[in-house]
Amino acid sequence: MLPFKLVCAPSFYLPIGQSVFPVSKYRLMCGHLLEQGIAGPEDFLEPAPASDEDVLLVHTPEYVRKLRTGTLSESEEWQLEAPYSRELVEAYWLCAGGTILAGDCALRDGVSFNLSGGFHHAFPDHGEGFNLINDVAVAIRRLQQDGRIKTAMTVDCDVHHGNGTAAIFGIQSAAPSRRPERLPYLRESPARDVFTISLHQENNYPAWKPPSAIDVGLPDGMGDDEYLAWLEKALTSGFERFQPDLICYLAGSDPYREDLLGGLALTIEGLKRRDEFVFRAAGARGIPVLAVPAGGYAADVRDTVTIHCNTILAGFRHS
Ligand SMILES: [Zn+2]
Repeated sequence: MLPFKLVCAPSFYLPIGQSVFPVSKYRLMCGHLLEQGIAGPEDFLEPAPASDEDVLLVHTPEYVRKLRTGTLSESEEWQLEAPYSRELVEAYWLCAGGTILAGDCALRDGVSFNLSGGFHHAFPDHGEGFNLINDVAVAIRRLQQDGRIKTAMTVDCDVHHGNGTAAIFGIQSAAPSRRPERLPYLRESPARDVFTISLHQENNYPAWKPPSAIDVGLPDGMGDDEYLAWLEKALTSGFERFQPDLICYLAGSDPYREDLLGGLALTIEGLKRRDEFVFRAAGARGIPVLAVPAGGYAADVRDTVTIHCNTILAGFRHS
């Protein structure tokens, strides 16, 4: 039995049509955890969908209305890169409910995972790159509204920049920062109650990267040791500036060298070290961690599943 809860809806399925996105990974992760004896059925909690009120803590009434009534424009659906359906909306509301529940569990147990979360490309008023609504942002705002936390830090290690999350929590009046000319770079911007960190491959989607509180732009092909050194720099700098009540860790598996949508060169072992580092840094400061898998598109989906399950094992070792 695990010392924390895994949030997982057995029926969770993202109906996003023909796509490189491995929608089977959620089912495979649950199966792998049970088959390997990492978790038992008693370790899983089934979430309820988020309410519209929860989603409206982050997303605009106009966008939520369009999603609820199926009235996205053609260009909005094109930008989403997934065909609209009522089932798609229900799946994302369920995912956001799961991340809220996992946040609640993390504050109680020190660590928790929502096995289907991490949709960081969703903005307040639109979705991008398969991401309809931003489950992590919804969970943070709901936990703040309930008085459970005042502050949070997102540590986004998906290979793609957390553009939606940065836009949601960024300071709008901040002058748009120009991209530094040399890679790698670490760029700092102002933050309020939610401190966003994004460690990403610079020359990758999304083209427009609104400023996070800390952005680390990495060059193509970076490997384990250099990546981990930049992660350490980012977290050290983040904790010097900010003391969060909760860390939301987006443990994307797409910095993996065999990933079809990523251009970094981390190994499975390097990604394990990354997870260990984040949990150790949080544990040393007594900060609970809500973790979500975010992206992962390895040529062999079993690698994606292994990397995500390793994140859960790293949480186990540090809980
Ligand atoms: Zn990604």
